[in-house]
Amino acid sequence: MSSEKTPLPSASNFIRAIIEKDLAQNKYATKKWAGSPGDAAHHDTGAVDAAKIRTRFPPEPNGYLHIGHAKSIFLNFGLARDFEGVCHLRFDDTNPEKESQEYVDSIIDAVKWLGFDWQNGDESNLYFASNYFDFMYRAAESLIEAGHAYVDSQSAEEMRITRGTLTEAGKNSPWRDRSVAENLSLFREMRDGKHADGSLILRAKIDMASPNFNMRDPAIYRVRRAHHHNTGDKWCIYPMYTFAHPIEDALERITHSICTLEFEDQRPFYDWLLERLAEAGLLAHPLPKQYEFARLNLTYVVLSKRKLIQLVEEKHVSGWDDPRLPTLAGARRRGYTSAGFKLFTDRIGVSKADSWIEYSILEDSMREVLNVDAERRIAVLDPVKLVIDNYPEDISEDCFAPNHPLKPELGKRTVQLSKELWIEREDFMEVPSKGFFRLTPDGMVRLRYGYVVKCTGCEKDEKGNVTVVHCEYLPETKSGTPGSDSVKVKGNIHWVSAQHAHEAEVRLYDRLFKEAHPGQGQHEDGRDRDFLDDLNPNSVTTITAQLELSLKDVNPEECFQFERHGYFVVDRKDSVAGKPVFNRTVTLRDAWQK
Ligand code: ATP
Ligand code: MG
Repeated sequence: MSSEKTPLPSASNFIRAIIEKDLAQNKYATKKWAGSPGDAAHHDTGAVDAAKIRTRFPPEPNGYLHIGHAKSIFLNFGLARDFEGVCHLRFDDTNPEKESQEYVDSIIDAVKWLGFDWQNGDESNLYFASNYFDFMYRAAESLIEAGHAYVDSQSAEEMRITRGTLTEAGKNSPWRDRSVAENLSLFREMRDGKHADGSLILRAKIDMASPNFNMRDPAIYRVRRAHHHNTGDKWCIYPMYTFAHPIEDALERITHSICTLEFEDQRPFYDWLLERLAEAGLLAHPLPKQYEFARLNLTYVVLSKRKLIQLVEEKHVSGWDDPRLPTLAGARRRGYTSAGFKLFTDRIGVSKADSWIEYSILEDSMREVLNVDAERRIAVLDPVKLVIDNYPEDISEDCFAPNHPLKPELGKRTVQLSKELWIEREDFMEVPSKGFFRLTPDGMVRLRYGYVVKCTGCEKDEKGNVTVVHCEYLPETKSGTPGSDSVKVKGNIHWVSAQHAHEAEVRLYDRLFKEAHPGQGQHEDGRDRDFLDDLNPNSVTTITAQLELSLKDVNPEECFQFERHGYFVVDRKDSVAGKPVFNRTVTLRDAWQK
């Protein structure tokens, strides 16, 4: 419930407005909570819930969380925090396949990293939907007993055909009018393993003529012989998601169940089911209500677990935490921050209309936060030697560089200047192009935080590549000394002393996809594009850079602005003490803007 730093108030949105209204009307004033999830009888033993609202974030542990999930996390946990409520972390693990402990652990890590917690006093509020299987089974029997559910013997194909169309009502199943006794006995046989997978299915008995397909006798329990990571082989029948989810919410006494728009058509069934179970005395009022918002669609990435799994399994990336992936584990290694995600989610807002968000909005959010948070350092990424021919051989001197231009209280640090320096290759041009104000033969620039130097020429190898640039310094021009600006120059370049530099691996990351909508559209020969066709072949470049010495002893996940280059983070996986590896988080400016 808490965020690491004092959070800024969140932007308003339609869901907040609904909650404000619900609270003003005292909708939950008598809602009881027994300290743990359970049925009506259980909660009846509890006191009035101290949490003003309950929300939940319900991931299915079948993959790593991605940037889209961050939107849902900030929304659900943020609402709980702002309205003195609680947000549950619930693993929606009712589907026995594809779920694993690795995913559970990674999800816990990611939500904590974003700054949220679900513990409330001695209540953990960390729940597994599979712990509700017993109740779900009981709920299904109760529907059967009340004549609201029946066992259908039609094949999947027959069910599909009798479902009807948008303009045509469906047809009642020939098994729809089985007696309660027969339904109960068949359902128990399903549970006891007497029927093959797919042979029988339990359906809610609602209305085959409903204009809403989800109300045309939806399936609620199926036979599926599969080992479950939590319940093992106890069950060979599993509830359908649409049946399980409302029940999970109700057992946990969720007040506002927030989901993405594709569940809008499920809402009538959500309400129908909970009302039937409340009528049977199994669930307590007030029942949870479902609200839908538009999921995040982001350009230049894919936010589907299936595609992310494919990228990882086919080794297009180095793993789930590859800094190019839009997983939260990848974003973290890339140097994106929780505060950056908070700014981003506030900026994009919460609406009921689907839209695409430009990736650059996310990058801008990260830049804005890092601009304030990251100290400045000097790094030469593509080094070439600069020799100051008139500087003494064996000495070095201190120059003073501010740690943060916006935060003078962070002071200055010392960087050493000596006769041989590293400068950026692109800061010297033998034949300057128009408007080039850096080093050129006979030209003058200021060595940032040091002296003005005058270029005297360069050396080249047999291929014509510049190997050394020569210059002379003007001793009376040292930055910070009186009269240092007596010589006016247009250019200002950064440098590190070769003798004092720390050589390090730096990874320059770029977008993983070169197209805004990976996989959309056709090839020239008419074939459909696959998202893999749009992978950016140059999404990472590994270089050896020359860094100022203070960058040698840094901690994993520390982030810095390398002046003129962008924001960089100490890789949390591959760095060792005294030998950090740096990842470029984001450049200083948007290089993708057309
Ligand atoms: P899948 O890719 O398997 O369909 P999912 O993306 O729906 O999975 P879940 O684990 O079911 O993943 O998601 C957990 C929660 O995160 C859900 O409540 C869902 O609404 C929300 N969520 C998932 N993707 C997005 C997204 N792109 N934008 C906003 N919320 C999302
Ligand atoms: Mg889902």
